[in-house]
Amino acid sequence: VADLTAFQSWIAETSAELDEHAGHLTELDRAIGDGDHGTNMARGFGRCAELAGEEQFPSIDAYLKKVGMTLVSTVGGASGPLYGTFFLRFAGPLAATDDAGVHALAQGLRAGVDGIVARGKAEVGDKTMYDTFAPALEAFDAAAVAGSPVAECLRACAEAADSGRDSTEPLVARKGRASYLGERSAGHLDPGASSAALLLRAAARTLA
Ligand code: ADP
Ligand code: MG
Ligand code: MG
Repeated sequence: VADLTAFQSWIAETSAELDEHAGHLTELDRAIGDGDHGTNMARGFGRCAELAGEEQFPSIDAYLKKVGMTLVSTVGGASGPLYGTFFLRFAGPLAATDDAGVHALAQGLRAGVDGIVARGKAEVGDKTMYDTFAPALEAFDAAAVAGSPVAECLRACAEAADSGRDSTEPLVARKGRASYLGERSAGHLDPGASSAALLLRAAARTLA
């Protein structure tokens, strides 16, 4: 069940994954950006992972809002406000829930991803984190509509996220810093698409 503790595990797990893969993410960002994505993300989620030990949160949505605000203020760059918005919006549909099931998770995920689009205006194929989030959300919804249990919806979501991440490699970036490179951005995975896949993999391990 996705209760407050599960959401806190999601953030802790994501933080651990980002620590482990920070070098790789920074390498990806060095190729088509400014080489700070791994350190930005590890710093921000590291700070978020500390919240659970510092404060008693009354609800899932209060916790997710704090995570969102913390990401906005600690990650920086383009991705900080985008990941921050994802969690701030994710919190909305979970306002009256202590234990998020398939329906609440689908709504939270959709609200979060809509927030990324509202903020960054990316479309699928622009070579951004949205290339991971869009198919991941679609896969979650398809599994949910088919009546699958949470664990299966999250697994489908994580697998689609990995494919979405991989889809960015041949693309020419049309948003963010990588777009300054034009055609030279092709042939590299997008760093934000890669960190988003880590986040959704961690969700599959913690929220079911
Ligand atoms: P910065 O480019 O400011 O250094 P980061 O390196 O932390 O920020 O994050 C870069 C990532 O942000 C990109 O790989 C891309 O996935 C994502 N990104 C940038 N602009 C947008 C946007 N408009 N919409 C969605 N994602 C974006
Ligand atoms: Mg960068
Ligand atoms: Mg930067």
